[in-house]
Amino acid sequence: MTPNEESWRAARERMVREQIEARGVRDPRVLAALRAVPRHVFVPPEKRAWAYADGPLPIGHGQTISQPYIVARMTELLGLQGDEKVLEVGTGSGYQAAILGHLAREVHTLERVPELAAQAAERLARLGLDHVQVHVADGSLGWPPAAPYDAILVAAAAPEVPRALLAQLAPGGRLVLPVGDRYQQVLERWTRTGPDRYHREVFEPVAFVPLIGDQGWPAA
Ligand code: SAH
Repeated sequence: MTPNEESWRAARERMVREQIEARGVRDPRVLAALRAVPRHVFVPPEKRAWAYADGPLPIGHGQTISQPYIVARMTELLGLQGDEKVLEVGTGSGYQAAILGHLAREVHTLERVPELAAQAAERLARLGLDHVQVHVADGSLGWPPAAPYDAILVAAAAPEVPRALLAQLAPGGRLVLPVGDRYQQVLERWTRTGPDRYHREVFEPVAFVPLIGDQGWPAA
């Protein structure tokens, strides 16, 4: 039996209340975006029943769609008002990019696995999110053609903050990413406070798949 739109909506509402509001995410625009984006569209068909469950899910190629709460929390830390140009590193399923698309003027998202990038681009287009563009690239180097960015979100674990991403932040821009070893990291937020000055804050522990690339971990 395929659940209908109404039951998906009910599952989504429960997800927002029990997993996200309950853990302290308050930004009303972030909560509205999580209520609006159909997460079940972004998970493999055989995993749809778990689309609104409280955890990450496999999406193929050894990758995962992040836990809903982590998506909400990282998005909240970016402090988006609506007029920003945003970069995401690690498109994966495209779900986080769709959330960012609801909250910003222009979104560029980078994925190193071409098949994931193609699938995500198709889903985003089907939802009418034409201002969200998917590029196949090593995101540890950022995306210079559209830089600078008001906000950058990295959805894969970096051994340290990639210098290329700091350099692509606009004045006052925020970079949110997991930093640590391959299995355990903490969320960090870097705010550009001057041409060569950044303010770093540390938030909760997280576990992401590795950022693989020039300013990430080596492949294999
Ligand atoms: N934001 C995603 C989840 C990302 S999982 C979602 O909402 O579904 C992390 C993704 O980062 C994986 O798809 C992985 O292939 C990708 N990735 C890892 N290293 C990368 C790099 N250097 N550049 C771009 N993408 C990378």
